Amino acid sequence: MRPFGLNSIHKKGGKVKKFYIAANWKMNMNRAGAKQLATEMKAGLKDGKNKYMIAPSFTLLQEVSAVLKGSNILLGAQNMGLEEKGAHTGEVSVLQLLEAGVQTVILGHSERRHIYKETDGLMNKKVKLALKHGLEVILCVGELLEEREAGHAEAVCERQIKKGLADVSVQDLVKVTIAYEPVWAIGTGKNASPEDADAIHSSIRKTLAALYGEKAAKEMIIQYGGSMKPENAAGLLKKPNIDGGLIGGAGLKTETFLPIALFSE
Ligand code: PEP
Repeated sequence: MRPFGLNSIHKKGGKVKKFYIAANWKMNMNRAGAKQLATEMKAGLKDGKNKYMIAPSFTLLQEVSAVLKGSNILLGAQNMGLEEKGAHTGEVSVLQLLEAGVQTVILGHSERRHIYKETDGLMNKKVKLALKHGLEVILCVGELLEEREAGHAEAVCERQIKKGLADVSVQDLVKVTIAYEPVWAIGTGKNASPEDADAIHSSIRKTLAALYGEKAAKEMIIQYGGSMKPENAAGLLKKPNIDGGLIGGAGLKTETFLPIALFSE
């Protein structure tokens, strides 16, 4: 088991706040590039004090897993099939992910919700299946631009959390991270201001407190995602309710990922 495996490393209110910084490589990289970038990240983060994760494409998992072995970086998958096995053409099952060395899975990314029309109900089934098999989960939530403009950002996140986590026990919650990713900020270069992001994170924490109690909600890691880069990361990560980042574009190069990943207060 690699270190930094569980959210319990996060010490809110203690002396050191550990952030959870994750790179979602999306549908990028070939085998050689993935191996090289993972090797560079492993070296660059070897003394890092935060929690780290890299999520490459399915076809690159084994390559990256071999590189990350013995490191402080978790191996993540970007999605997961709905069932353990069977007639699900084009899907990859939780058992296959485990065999490839995956420790955590990103579920409900806005590209899954909006391009591939994955619903809250589907997300909930996947969350429960991943947890049943001991995987950690990053559950992504976030509003579209029109939902924000209509003043519905908080309500959208509340709905996605309530439905996504339906029937998830407080015991299993320690393996869940929430990523707040306003859809209008993903890959667009526009990030939410630290104040706006912190306000939504705070409302997400209230939703979690209503579901699981204050203590559990306080201990939850809530990442921000959406055009996070070295220039804006510190402003976001200094906010009290922002506990890490889920990073797309800036996660594809060490020059942009490492300065964020090594952030400390
Ligand atoms: C993401 O896809 O989760 C993301 C936040 O992408 P980007 O950092 O490129 O906006």
